[in-house]
Amino acid sequence: MKIRIAIIVACLGISLLGIRLFASGKPGNVKGDLKGSEPGFAVVELFTSEGCSSCPAADQLISRVQKESDGRPVYILAYHVDYWNRLGWKDPFSSAAYSHRQDLYANWLNASLYTPQAVVNGAVEFVGSDENRLRNALSTALGKPGKESVLLSHVTLDRDQVEISYHADGNIANTSLLVSLVQKTAVSKVLKGENGGRTLSHVQIVRDLETIDLNGKKDGTTTLKIPEGINADGYEIIAFLQNNRTGEITAAGKADLKPATGHENNPYYSNTDTRKLNVSNKEWKKILPAELYATAREQATERPFTGKYWNADAKGTYYCAVCGNELFRSDAKFASTCGWPSFFAPTRKNSVAYREDHSYGMDRKEVICARCDSHLGHIFDDGPAPSHQRYCMNSISLDFRPDKIISARN
Ligand code: FE
Repeated sequence: MKIRIAIIVACLGISLLGIRLFASGKPGNVKGDLKGSEPGFAVVELFTSEGCSSCPAADQLISRVQKESDGRPVYILAYHVDYWNRLGWKDPFSSAAYSHRQDLYANWLNASLYTPQAVVNGAVEFVGSDENRLRNALSTALGKPGKESVLLSHVTLDRDQVEISYHADGNIANTSLLVSLVQKTAVSKVLKGENGGRTLSHVQIVRDLETIDLNGKKDGTTTLKIPEGINADGYEIIAFLQNNRTGEITAAGKADLKPATGHENNPYYSNTDTRKLNVSNKEWKKILPAELYATAREQATERPFTGKYWNADAKGTYYCAVCGNELFRSDAKFASTCGWPSFFAPTRKNSVAYREDHSYGMDRKEVICARCDSHLGHIFDDGPAPSHQRYCMNSISLDFRPDKIISARN
């Protein structure tokens, strides 16, 4: 009970401070220079809540700083604490784990517990809506070179989790690696509590946080649970090294969340680069799985009714499994009884190319990828309108990506 009273008093005090700063027009007066190259980095951690009336101003401030900092070593994390849920509105992004993280800072920095509270590089804390303090802290942090580093590699989305390999460098004694799954934006209509009736915009919301005590070990892997059916483009991974005794953050990095493609070891694979490739079979043999190599580079044909796409009907795009070249849209796919995925037209006329094929005593027209010359299948003139053509493809030569939402199984 004492703790609860102490927290409420702290929040009221900060509310008054927030109003005073806002009314005086101070926020916005200080325009720190966030541009240019800098030797350091800045991890900005904001402790906020939809249940606290002084928090939206801090959310807006970090949103502005986030926009200004695009492409620079500024890593923003907004933790929604859960202790204001008792005032009548349950913050959907809140977690006791984030309140616990704020407790750690109260100990490390000998600080009070309140919202909105900002901490930069685990070293300084201040009111989260105080733009002057935030810009000064950013300037200090970005100007201070770091000796440690953290590298994230092989960040891949696989079913309902993201798998991450990491490598830390420098002095990592008494150091933990913290890995967070961050939702880049969200909008909430708050129905009750101090912000009842307001629509709040959030950025950089922490949705999961793993703490790994490195125990001196520089390399490892970890996994984060992800919500079902998320759009991976709306999330990112931010990771940083933190001293267990002082709370100081010594390195940080981030990575986009990408679905596992199975092409991580294929340097030629791209869904956007359409430039012609000239790669030898010797090189492809080192890169491609044996089954794909046999079909794509040696014209093998998969058995009918065995491939993964012959009866698939999901909306999306089919790419070359060898090089990533965009080949077909699902709306050009038709139900064929031949046992192979069949299309009546490619997405672009020059997505594919053709070769005469007289093998097995037949006169057929082979369809190849126009970018990498890999065998895809054959074309016949018994398809449906409007083209009356049937691009009869091997499933194994194709990669399918469903439209927009990346489901848990892709
Ligand atoms: Fe290709």
